[in-house]
Amino acid sequence: MTTSPLLNDTQGYIAGRWVGAASGRTLEVINPATGETLARVPDMGAEETTAAVEAAAAAMRTTPSLEQRRAWLAAIASAHLENKNELASLITLENGKPLKEAAVEVEYAAGFYSHFARQLHHLEPRPLPELIRGLRWTVHHRPAGVAGLITPWNFPLAMLAKKLAAALAGGCAVVAKPAELTPLSVIALWKLLEWIGFAPGWLNLVIGRPEPIGQVFCTHPAVRVVSFTGSTAVGKRLLAQSAPHVKRLALELGGNAPFIVFADADLELAAEALIANKFRAGGQTCVCANRIFVQQSVMDAFAPAVAQRVAKLRVGDGLEEGVDIGPLISGAAFEKVRLHVEDALAHGAQCVLGGIPAHGGKAWGNYFPPTVLKGLRQPEMLAMREETFGPVIGLATFDSEEQVIAQANGTPYGLAAYVFTSSAERARRVAAGLRFGHVGINTGAGPTPEAPFGGMKESGLGREGGVEGLFEFCETQTVAEG
Ligand code: ADP
Repeated sequence: MTTSPLLNDTQGYIAGRWVGAASGRTLEVINPATGETLARVPDMGAEETTAAVEAAAAAMRTTPSLEQRRAWLAAIASAHLENKNELASLITLENGKPLKEAAVEVEYAAGFYSHFARQLHHLEPRPLPELIRGLRWTVHHRPAGVAGLITPWNFPLAMLAKKLAAALAGGCAVVAKPAELTPLSVIALWKLLEWIGFAPGWLNLVIGRPEPIGQVFCTHPAVRVVSFTGSTAVGKRLLAQSAPHVKRLALELGGNAPFIVFADADLELAAEALIANKFRAGGQTCVCANRIFVQQSVMDAFAPAVAQRVAKLRVGDGLEEGVDIGPLISGAAFEKVRLHVEDALAHGAQCVLGGIPAHGGKAWGNYFPPTVLKGLRQPEMLAMREETFGPVIGLATFDSEEQVIAQANGTPYGLAAYVFTSSAERARRVAAGLRFGHVGINTGAGPTPEAPFGGMKESGLGREGGVEGLFEFCETQTVAEG
């Protein structure tokens, strides 16, 4: 069991009180590096979620001023930074990522609260400059209603920050549901939120198996926005469940990111960027490169440049000094990565480094060796059709610009893409041709709080960050005065 000063209450939080599951049932939270039970958390369901939604709806009878929202957001950003080490170690304990990455995640999360604190002027009422039809017109941005937030395990605090910061900025009370695999860092955050002091009902936390909680979010009339980050399969299910109730959904779903290296690129830069991008969270991010297209003539130079760097990465318990890659989140995640590598090799790919480990997937300690494969082909190989979500680099070749744009777009997903070339002209052309919401040119950098981020096609609906992320939680209301 873990002992943290922020985890006196490993419970949910409804209407300003820490509460357990009405059924008394609990779920275990496991350290993926060791198999140790870190804590038991309540397995809450529809009853508790309904109570949380109703508490949030009651809180929203008073709309907080923009000044009040600004103060909340600034206080939450500070709470992250002041408790960075404690929050980071909880992330590492429950998620497995290296501690240095967990600390960066806490800072990144804090960035969303500070960012939205600076965006509130966009919510001032906007009078139209002229009398129209003899009337005075004003556009208001009203809080949309109770927001249901569903977040994944790969960035427990950062994915929540994108939603919670925007919801509070928009004036919405929330019910948050963290991933059941990683609720502890979020519970710790709730302790900090309690210390900041919010009126009861503004911030509710429910923890449990996802289906009953998601069902209430999608059907309760007070919930007006469901903001979800996770798999495309679950995103589609939420869309279907909420369709009869015409709710607004903000969906950040799966990706299948192409990483394109043209022959005229700086290959050392591209290799460095690929490592930084690909191995963040052990390759378990929806923006990490999944299909690496290398122009035929430079493959023999690029593959060893990548392999040399990958060979230096250290795998181990994220709490240990010097570790670059932690365990995968679960035995199921390990099996998926193994299947992708096996399938690629069976279809003719060659192993440059790593490969399938002698030990199989286990319930814990799922350390997959960082692996480099070449000779990948789309669409026949599973690793090109679906996100591998693990530390595997699969290199494929291409001949022409036109061909690689078609290959990159040849997926139902459209989240992130990366292009490496020394030609500015080509970079512009390729970016315009890619149907992806985020495009990196000569960089593997992912999203930042200041810019809108989100997917095209089956990678999602709506945007997070930027100004766009704020408007996901607002309803536009036009008032015409006679
Ligand atoms: P991943 O493959 O990243 O685990 P999921 O989509 O399964 O992605 O999970 C992301 C989040 O969605 C988690 O908080 C999970 O509990 C939640 N979730 C999973 N299934 C459902 C569902 N049917 N309804 C609502 N939330 C769900």
